[in-house]
Amino acid sequence: MKLCRFNEDRLGVVVDGAIRDITDVQTEIRANARYDMKGDAVIASLPEWRSRMEEAAESAEPIDVASVDLLPPIARPCKTMAAPVNYEAHVAEMAAQPHVTGEDKGAQRPSGIQNQGIFLKANSAVVGPSEGVAIRFPDRRNDHEVEFVIIVGKEGSRIKRENAMDYVAGYTLGLDMTVRGIEDRSFRKSCDGYAPVGPWMVTADEIPDPGNVPFTVHLNGNLQQDAHTKDLIFDVPRLIEFASEFYTIYPGDYLFTGSPPGVSEVHPGDVMRCNCELIGEMEVVVREAE
Ligand code: MN
Repeated sequence: MKLCRFNEDRLGVVVDGAIRDITDVQTEIRANARYDMKGDAVIASLPEWRSRMEEAAESAEPIDVASVDLLPPIARPCKTMAAPVNYEAHVAEMAAQPHVTGEDKGAQRPSGIQNQGIFLKANSAVVGPSEGVAIRFPDRRNDHEVEFVIIVGKEGSRIKRENAMDYVAGYTLGLDMTVRGIEDRSFRKSCDGYAPVGPWMVTADEIPDPGNVPFTVHLNGNLQQDAHTKDLIFDVPRLIEFASEFYTIYPGDYLFTGSPPGVSEVHPGDVMRCNCELIGEMEVVVREAE
């Protein structure tokens, strides 16, 4: 099942390329959820409510995807996690450019994801494809990083690798936008709009092997990142295990799995088109911040 959020906080199921509005189901789920719950009520309710969502979708009128504003697939993520240095070829391309990473100005980072750990992006940086990316510092280098993104399905802590897949609700695509420089990574990657996700969430059953997923980003029509999750250093179950060693993960948490090689600079006016056959396609426009 493909679940999307659109327009004014509406929930939809994407069926054969069209959206079926099931906002009534979302309203009912939220009415029965505690306000102070950690995580997203709709995602937490998926196992119990999925069949009702599918029934509601069947009787809803199809809406053209192109006619709506797509929002990020999760209304209330508890946190947005992201893996650094998780593809060898990306590690190599950054090591070759110390003027980009700030290492020529003294920025120091230990080597490897095991030592660097997972970082957080502010939830306020998360946007849907329709919102686009506003470049906050046009005089500095701003890069796109297209990433395969895990959406957590249920609460868990100190999860073992062999059980990790039980904690995955689904997947989406994300752009881990970055201002290059010497500041802390989370700071530079948390500007408003620097975490576009979408176009929607695909439930885990549609991607039985998350280690076998090709995906791409085109910048202004040119293929820029041509990636495959088989090249991940920490794969999906290992990332769940690693993250949950340090904190409890909650339904609706995002986990960006790291950037493949091919990162490049973006400028206002650019268009990034992310594609994954198993998920879908999202187009994100770059503009200058006000
Ligand atoms: Mn990244």
